[in-house]
Amino acid sequence: MTHKKHHLDIITPCFNEQECVPLFFAEISRCMQGLDCSYSVLFIDDGSQDGTLAAIKSLVEKYGNESVKYISFARNFGKEAAIYAGLEASDGDLVVLMDCDLQHPPALLPAMLDEIDAGYDSCAAYRVERKGEPWLRKILSNAFFSVLNHISEVDMRPGVTDFRMMTRNMKDAVVSLREYERFSKGLFDWIGYKTKWIEYEDVQRAAGKTKWSFIALLKYAAGGLVAFSTTPLRLASVLGALVVLAAVVYSAFIILQVLVYGTDYSGFSTIIILIMFIGGVIISLLGIIGEYLARVYSEIKRRPIYITRETNIK
Ligand code: UDP
Ligand code: MG
Repeated sequence: MTHKKHHLDIITPCFNEQECVPLFFAEISRCMQGLDCSYSVLFIDDGSQDGTLAAIKSLVEKYGNESVKYISFARNFGKEAAIYAGLEASDGDLVVLMDCDLQHPPALLPAMLDEIDAGYDSCAAYRVERKGEPWLRKILSNAFFSVLNHISEVDMRPGVTDFRMMTRNMKDAVVSLREYERFSKGLFDWIGYKTKWIEYEDVQRAAGKTKWSFIALLKYAAGGLVAFSTTPLRLASVLGALVVLAAVVYSAFIILQVLVYGTDYSGFSTIIILIMFIGGVIISLLGIIGEYLARVYSEIKRRPIYITRETNIK
């Protein structure tokens, strides 16, 4: 296999991954062997509470500041912020984003390099099977992608992950998008560029446990929708119009009944139903508007996306 000479920055966000850090590094070294491509592993310690930073530092001692780089956050800023920090700090002609738990198989790296050499700006991997994943999560995840693709300006493949190799040009484009509430999977699609999709079979994490609760995933999904679509906001006017229409039809019906058949109406239950219905619609619409307002608020504060406590990158 011949590759052009590259330098690849391998970016991996880690949050409480003390067992995974050495495993990850060993597996990367194994898979990069024999490739015509130098590499650095850039660990982003996302405010871990365990021995993650110590594990990273012991790799630095063993392999040096060029092979093992790290940025350690002042607190947990979330995976999206870690991805941003890594992209911003990388200086190789290629970068790849990978989870630290080996759920993004490093064995795919040579194939990804080949695709970039073939002229693609990025090579992204998607999962084809989700073994052991709760069925509810699977259904919700598929529903999420189908809703998002229909109502937003981006088009995302179900099973898309953050496992992606890209050229420096494409990386710089992503870094130029400085929004605070980030949804990288959407940003990668939004900026354009030529992406080659490759599939891989889902694997279990190497050690430790997942950092995503069900609620955290729901929030993440809602964040993605709000970031790439204003359709929920427009829903307000459509729903409002529908409710008005329903009210007009209903009152016409009642007036007719009274005039034609002389029905004696006691409107009590009707009123309760109407109040509840309209109240519910208004409250949920306020919630949607609030969701966007919260975004506007957090964006205009222009806070940094992450804060570094410690790093070995000069
Ligand atoms: N991660 C992170 N910050 C967080 C949560 C997760 O940097 O707040 C990292 C985590 O260490 C891992 C990757 O993001 O390398 C994916 O997380 P995880 O494996 O928990 O998610 P899952 O694979 O279960 O979706
Ligand atoms: Mg994982």
